Amino acid sequence: MEVLKVNLSIIEKMKRHYASDITDTIPQGGVFLAKIPGCTITAYKSGKVMFQGSNFQGEVAKWKADSAPQAPKEKKASSLPKDFHLLSVIGSDEVGTGDYFGPMVVATAYVEKKQIPLLKELGVTDSKNLTDKQICDIAKQLITFLPYSLLVLHNEKYNDLWQKGTNQGKMKALLHNQAILNTIKKIAPAKPEAILIDQFCQPGVYYNYLKGKKEIAREDVYFSTKGESVHIAVAAASIIARYAFVQHFDQLSKAVGMTLPKGAGGKVDQAAATLISKQGTDILPKVTKLHFANTEKAMALYRKKY
Ligand code: MN
Repeated sequence: MEVLKVNLSIIEKMKRHYASDITDTIPQGGVFLAKIPGCTITAYKSGKVMFQGSNFQGEVAKWKADSAPQAPKEKKASSLPKDFHLLSVIGSDEVGTGDYFGPMVVATAYVEKKQIPLLKELGVTDSKNLTDKQICDIAKQLITFLPYSLLVLHNEKYNDLWQKGTNQGKMKALLHNQAILNTIKKIAPAKPEAILIDQFCQPGVYYNYLKGKKEIAREDVYFSTKGESVHIAVAAASIIARYAFVQHFDQLSKAVGMTLPKGAGGKVDQAAATLISKQGTDILPKVTKLHFANTEKAMALYRKKY
């Protein structure tokens, strides 16, 4: 069995071609159903045409040239250059996007191929498998010798951008692009063999977000989900980003005089309600990502309790 995607004019052409073999049955959403020896052809309004039966290949061959080309595949891990994990790479990752309290942080780090064994030695791995203490210890060492760039989007600015219609994806794209450009400049005239962004959206969407920017890093830029396991530079970037996030988070806790929880769960709602009771709602835009559902939940808790 094979399904071809064609445009409707081709379906009309097929209808004429199979005219004498078209049955009375029209399937749900279908245009026609034709039966010839060895093949049943079902055409749908969506442009899909299904060929079934022992001779489906012979029929498909007649129409293959008329079928729409498959949508171009986005760059995936499988389309990375050979032995990617051994190249000199700028890695880019972000932290704090799912935390109600605290900033959004993007970091990029440049790892030369000869440094890869040292990074492994230092314990650089997916930051999700490390404690905050381990992350801080490793990050403190990394920033002494790795070229890196760190961008912190504080809550007030974040909320400001959100109000102006910038969604979180666009904020991420803008920060990744800027951090990458910063690192490229830092290491010039040396050039990375590749740049790897821990993928948070389709590459097409990413570049759409960057439309209108004067400088856009495109050359040798790759995207991959689970980027930290694809190249250690992403793991290093993620550790540096997490380190900065934790530091800013602790400062925020000190500034508001209570320990703020990470994430966006029930504890966060409770803490936000307590914070409102102590300091009023004006504190929220300064320390939270206001558009999260936590704001409403915290307000409801506050009204109930106080
Ligand atoms: Mn990531």
